[in-house]
Amino acid sequence: MSLLSPGTRGLKALRSTNRRRLLDLLREHGEVSRADLARLTELSATTVSSLVAELADEGVVSEGGVDDHSRTGRTGRPARLVRLVGGRGLVIALNLTREVVHAAVCDLSGAVVLECDRRIDVDRADSLTRIAALVDELAEQAGQAARERISRLVVAVPGVVETSTGHVVSARVPAWQQLAPGPVLAAATGLETHVENDADLCALGERSFGAAVGLDDIAYVKASWGIGAGLVLGGRLYRGYHGGAGELGHMEVAEFGDLCLCGNRGCLETQASLETVLAALRVVRPEVRTPADLAELVQAGDRAAIRAVTDAGAAIGRTVAALCNVLAPQAVLVGGELAGGGTHLADSIRDAVERYTKPLTAERIVVLPAELGSRAALLGAVATAVEAETTP
Ligand SMILES: [Zn+2]
Repeated sequence: MSLLSPGTRGLKALRSTNRRRLLDLLREHGEVSRADLARLTELSATTVSSLVAELADEGVVSEGGVDDHSRTGRTGRPARLVRLVGGRGLVIALNLTREVVHAAVCDLSGAVVLECDRRIDVDRADSLTRIAALVDELAEQAGQAARERISRLVVAVPGVVETSTGHVVSARVPAWQQLAPGPVLAAATGLETHVENDADLCALGERSFGAAVGLDDIAYVKASWGIGAGLVLGGRLYRGYHGGAGELGHMEVAEFGDLCLCGNRGCLETQASLETVLAALRVVRPEVRTPADLAELVQAGDRAAIRAVTDAGAAIGRTVAALCNVLAPQAVLVGGELAGGGTHLADSIRDAVERYTKPLTAERIVVLPAELGSRAALLGAVATAVEAETTP
């Protein structure tokens, strides 16, 4: 039994595509009436109205001004014009991974103005100085006019961000253990700075711009060097009491399993992280070193690579099923570097959710590959900035 009927899957994808077409048009034309949006997209007036209302609710577009038809020469009642809120502000988004910082300057509609990757070893005491320098460099590259519109910096980190102190707690970035990067970066760059867990930002990115548009209850599973979940519940990001919600990788799956970086034993991460998959695969494919190598093999149909990813998916899927029994989300999005090269990881997690989640709940959950790839956290940064700009 499929968890998602082909009809539902098609409708969701269509809505996501329509939304993007509408945003592209607004980016291209500036201000457009609803009637002209319908004409240019060839969508029905009802569909355009519903998409505009949804985008306005999220603060991505606003309606105002009046089209007096002077430009088009048309007659009739003057129409209000839809425009991107993103036309005003810009955000610098950073996604910190183990060795590379993915950086982008985006407008609030999710359009990427410029983007670059920089090799920075995050786990060093001086990494924040280098990150602040990168922010300055991006602002410089964006040019004078754009620089004045940059108002925020949003940073995705591979660890738990303590709600009360802003400290980043991550076994993968021990150098930051007692450090609150938010205030340090804000002081160094002069920008209002938000620091969030990377899986959390991926969830927000997919919800605003990717596979989960319009959904209020989702779990984004980020399967990479670590395994984490970003949770949006009732339309809000759920961080837990201290910021540590969604640490899926530290659910115990083997009582006498290997020790984990967190200090416990037999955590999911010790069996199904990118590191364990690459190590297992190297026994038969010694040339595989990086996530890109793995994705390439999977894409080429290599049986051993697909088996390794599928087995990891089965292990991850059992814990996702437990999560689904507790939270009953509408959708589970599967992303992260372990998901590269095809839909095998998502397919395997879907099988496990179908098998181990209570049937009545499983029938209502869709398990989908994430759509935004390595840009998910960057676009989640945009969603965070939009919320900050539009929340009084
Ligand atoms: Zn652990």
